[in-house]
Amino acid sequence: MASPTKYIFITGGVTSSLGKGIIAASLGKLLQARGFTVTIQKFDPYLNIDPGTLNPYEHGECYVTDDGAETDLDLGHYERFLNTPTSQSNNITTGRIYNNVITKERKGEFLGKTVQVIPHITDEIKSNFYKLGEDGKYDVVITEIGGCVGDIESLPFIEAVRQARWDLGPNNFLVIHLTLIPYLKAAKELKTKPTQHSVKQLLEAGIQPDILVCRTEYHLPSDVKKKLALFCNVQLNNVIEAMDADTIYDVPLLMKKEKLDERVMSKLKLSSKQNTDLENWKDFLGKLKNPTQEVNIGLIGKYVSLPDSYKSIIEAFTHAGASIECHVNLKLISSEEINMDNFESKLKNLDGILVAPGFGERGFQGKLETVRYAREKQIPFFGICLGMQVAVIEYARNVLGLDDANSTEMDPLTKNPVIALMEEQKRIDQMGGTMRLGAYTCELKKGSKSYSAYGKVKIQERHRHRYEFNNSYLEQMEEAGMKATGKNPETGLVEVIEIKNHPWFVGVQFHPEYKSTVLNPQPLFVKFIQAAIDHKVK
Ligand code: GLN
Repeated sequence: MASPTKYIFITGGVTSSLGKGIIAASLGKLLQARGFTVTIQKFDPYLNIDPGTLNPYEHGECYVTDDGAETDLDLGHYERFLNTPTSQSNNITTGRIYNNVITKERKGEFLGKTVQVIPHITDEIKSNFYKLGEDGKYDVVITEIGGCVGDIESLPFIEAVRQARWDLGPNNFLVIHLTLIPYLKAAKELKTKPTQHSVKQLLEAGIQPDILVCRTEYHLPSDVKKKLALFCNVQLNNVIEAMDADTIYDVPLLMKKEKLDERVMSKLKLSSKQNTDLENWKDFLGKLKNPTQEVNIGLIGKYVSLPDSYKSIIEAFTHAGASIECHVNLKLISSEEINMDNFESKLKNLDGILVAPGFGERGFQGKLETVRYAREKQIPFFGICLGMQVAVIEYARNVLGLDDANSTEMDPLTKNPVIALMEEQKRIDQMGGTMRLGAYTCELKKGSKSYSAYGKVKIQERHRHRYEFNNSYLEQMEEAGMKATGKNPETGLVEVIEIKNHPWFVGVQFHPEYKSTVLNPQPLFVKFIQAAIDHKVK
């Protein structure tokens, strides 16, 4: 009989932002290296059905999966580390849980019963906990519980974890509690009390954590570890130190040194199927830390005050840069601060310019100035989603002379809607989950810059947008030198534009950044950085 799927739950205590997602992804990576199939899912305690309707300032970037789910940005870390795709099932919110339960209630599925948090909500949570493990595809399912233990919002999730132990049995169930050990400068001491309190809260909820992963700025002396073990009721060697790291990509190796994988395997009675040494990973880290060259790239967008809004783009530069041993000095520049008078000083010293995805009018003018500058000054340009749309509008206005060319997103009444809504989008009256989402096929034209990046005609990339290149302008645009070098073979929608007589000017309607991983750097990012290097040398 195949051994049962093992479930690992990761909770957080003391404070948010300790990096549960990175710990989950690192543990997943280590277990993968030992030959296990692993997936990671995130349960978020807010009431939105998904984060697609959240402003990036609230929760960082909205990550998109192949199957078109709008998800938490931690799923990006899971994919970047594990190199395997996630799906809608990997991200569940309280809103989705309640929506499912209420829909069932209306259908009469609980007829005669009072519908309650326990058992109906917790049953729904648990059935979602187990879903990905049901078909035997995964040896291990890691579940990250968002928020902090003790939050009112996450109580039903914590209660469901408590119950899960009894469904799964002790050998198939494990809880890791990620916590903070603060250092008090005045006392020159690392303090364990906040952790004791947060474990107490878990115990009150009926959960005994098996492993403590302790975020710290300083090494934990053995007496501190002993104290944590004693007061938190865990085995001494299950107190794992998680020192602050230079980069998130160091964390799998740090966790291996701390034997997190061995402790997990011992509790879950798992024996390694193999033991690879993470050679590729180390190779990547070696290149990341020892670049032989450097470029300055500007990321122009309106959400720059919270870099997490551009998480996948930033990480895609890390992967692509490392692959060619180039350090990318990424400068986040607010498009709202760029105007006709200052664009030259704002954009000076850049070897490459990326205009970021986004929504709405704010910062739009600054993006137009930026594209014009990159086009005229022959600076490598990469436009993603809205960035590509702005490039089309800029070209229509300044090269074709269509002064009022616009996207109907910015000006619904424009006489020249070079970017516009598709018919099916016009009929939509709900905001959540209604954009063009997920992976679509694109066919690239041989001889184009994008074809030379991917090295093949048919590619698949992920989407998240409503507006499209308006094909009634295609002929004019192509005649004037802006070519559609990538199209959706079924719908004819333009996916990639490039201009001739420019060293590297590529705009893509899709989001290539979502599929960049440590082991598979995204080819357009690699070529863009290469073009920036060439520009710098010139
Ligand atoms: N606002 C644009 C659209 O909806 C671009 C979206 C994006 O950049 N993700 O089409």
